[in-house]
Amino acid sequence: MSYQVDITIVGAGVIGLAIASQVASEGRAVYVLEKNQTFGQEASSRNSEVIHSGVYYPKDSLKARTCVEGNALLYELCQRHGIGHRKIGKLIVATDDAEVNELEKLWERGRSNGIKGLRLLNQQELSDLEPNVRGIAAIFSPSTGIIDSWGLMGHFAGKARDNGAHLAYRTEVTGIDRIPGGYKVSVRDPKGHFSFTTKVLINCAGLHSDKVAGMVGIDIARAGYRLHYCRGEYFSVSRGKANMVSRLIYPVPKAGEVGLGIHVNFDLGGRMRLGPDARYVDRIDYKVDDSQKRAFYDSVARFLPFIEYDDLEPEMVGIRAKLQAEGEDFRDFVISHECDRGLPQLINLIGIESPGLTSAPAIAKYVGRLVEEVLNNH
Ligand SMILES: Cc1cc2nc3c(=O)[nH]c(=O)nc-3n(C[C@H](O)[C@H](O)[C@H](O)COP(=O)(O)OP(=O)(O)OC[C@H]3O[C@@H](n4cnc5c(N)ncnc54)[C@H](O)[C@@H]3O)c2cc1C
Repeated sequence: MSYQVDITIVGAGVIGLAIASQVASEGRAVYVLEKNQTFGQEASSRNSEVIHSGVYYPKDSLKARTCVEGNALLYELCQRHGIGHRKIGKLIVATDDAEVNELEKLWERGRSNGIKGLRLLNQQELSDLEPNVRGIAAIFSPSTGIIDSWGLMGHFAGKARDNGAHLAYRTEVTGIDRIPGGYKVSVRDPKGHFSFTTKVLINCAGLHSDKVAGMVGIDIARAGYRLHYCRGEYFSVSRGKANMVSRLIYPVPKAGEVGLGIHVNFDLGGRMRLGPDARYVDRIDYKVDDSQKRAFYDSVARFLPFIEYDDLEPEMVGIRAKLQAEGEDFRDFVISHECDRGLPQLINLIGIESPGLTSAPAIAKYVGRLVEEVLNNH
């Protein structure tokens, strides 16, 4: 059978774009389909823009491996292509003895994940680095930084186009059928409905990736692919406080906590933000909820004594695509060639929550290898 398209990628967030830039090449018809007006309107532009080092994730998990590799790849990409970034470093701060115990476990985990330059600091060393932070010990991660996520996505989109990929916006995938040797993809765009055939289909639909997997006939509950939305709010901090710290400052995550704990992050313009918190929700709604202001203030006041309640202004919301429901244990990224389900040439990426932005270039290389295998074998 001949196909109209060689590779179709659903979703133009940072993951779909990074993969498109990896797999596009001369003589290959590669399409990226995106339901919104342009790329990066969902999780990829509603996040902390932190280049993580990989401290938090279990050894050998995809999250740990792709984060550590992605961290190095991102700095290399940023330097080579002039993408805005700053390697400002990060501190995870313990404020009591129980947290020091947890901090030491995190430090061991970070070292076993192969993160270079991690240091455990005592109170004096912490205060020498950040005199305005209150704590009794800290982990210093020098390879953590911040990045212009739009610049990164623009780079991937440009490279994909230069290599011949087509980016189709306002084009929503509404159905997928298995056909001999490939897939029939039904879409809706401003002109109406149509369908086409593709040899390889890559699902990078972020918050909707479980539904897209369901369109091919996968029972998402049985497969463990059902996504749970977890909202993260941000508050900006008065400009006058932005110089009080010069690194990203995180608390020690509490046992069973969903996120990393409300922390200090910066954008590249030097604006300080607090967030994100983590609350499971039933629907996607980006309206900022300023009733969380007190909870934000209380959670940072113990390690950031210079912040006052009135410094905080509601800023934005991001929604995490989590595979674990509330109260459940760690789940890794799903990056799966679905041949064992009788769906060869379909690659699902599901639950690509944090550190997905950092991991994007490493995930793209990983999927690139899967695609070459698929194309060579089919
Ligand atoms: C609050 C928050 C903070 C975070 N902070 C960080 C951080 O500091 N560092 C870090 O490394 N990571 C961070 N992350 C994680 C990171 O943002 C994500 O892992 C990453 O952006 C996921 O990218 P994506 O392309 O998978 O998803 P998205 O950016 O959501 O893109 C998916 C795309 O698929 C499209 N789509 C969906 N369904 C269809 C369809 N049927 N047809 C066509 N198109 C479709 C959507 O419109 C969307 O554009 C954070 C995430 C959140 C929510």
